[in-house]
Amino acid sequence: MKKAVTLQELDQALEDYRNSGKTIGFVPTMGALHDGHLSLVNLAKEKADIVVVSIFVNPTQFAPHEDYDAYPRDVNGDIEKLKPLDVDVVFCPTKDDLYPDGTDSAVKAGSNAEGLETIFRPHFFDGVVNVVSRLFDAVKPDVAVFGEKDFQQLMVIREMVETLGLDIEIIGGEIVRDEHGLALSSRNAYLSTEELEIARQLNKIIRNAAKTKDLDTAKAELLKTGFDKVDYVEKRWNRILAAAWLGKTRLIDNIPVISTER
Ligand code: AMP
Repeated sequence: MKKAVTLQELDQALEDYRNSGKTIGFVPTMGALHDGHLSLVNLAKEKADIVVVSIFVNPTQFAPHEDYDAYPRDVNGDIEKLKPLDVDVVFCPTKDDLYPDGTDSAVKAGSNAEGLETIFRPHFFDGVVNVVSRLFDAVKPDVAVFGEKDFQQLMVIREMVETLGLDIEIIGGEIVRDEHGLALSSRNAYLSTEELEIARQLNKIIRNAAKTKDLDTAKAELLKTGFDKVDYVEKRWNRILAAAWLGKTRLIDNIPVISTER
């Protein structure tokens, strides 16, 4: 596995693959890798000849009051997790490598960014498309894999690729959960033992809402279970999507609507 930090190192690492016409699969991450990320890597390996994984905690998608500084970082541990998966290139740029001329970007998130996350994190999707468009420009993948865990993000990226006319196939990877159904997330590391117990109810409550479509009851149940604040429980894209707070940790999840019609 080759490691690249600068754009030049990335081009060098990919040169032979590009020259021999190999297809490139790409998995962008912010590191603190878990089995959810690794499942995306395996999906990328199925869809392309070689796989590039990026590890970059993107400052432009965090608001000043959010957890950019505290976000878990363990690049060496991440690299150890990627080695057994036969990842070809790990790209770990610095902020200066990706934003050499500052963070302004002409690429903005489209209509799929409206509502849901944007109500509570207005800066978020513009930051995501800013970094993902730069990463796509650097890696030039044929295929890129994003998790359904961040379902609205997946929809925003699909829209961005269509709007910019990029020739990149976007693939969604299923949500990987723990044995209690909790969606794996790097932010789960923030949870205390007690909070973890409560967090594990989130998937159960929205799974129920995916059957009943009763969003108000789901919100009430989340608060009753011990969540401190519910940002939203909403139906969109035939899914129930939710975001809720446990102390200083914000969790998101989503489940496809379950049709009860026969
Ligand atoms: P992050 O490092 O949190 O920015 O996530 C990088 C990619 O991994 C994104 O496409 C996420 O949607 C995806 N991802 C995060 N958690 C999971 C999970 N539990 N299952 C599947 N994909 C995930």
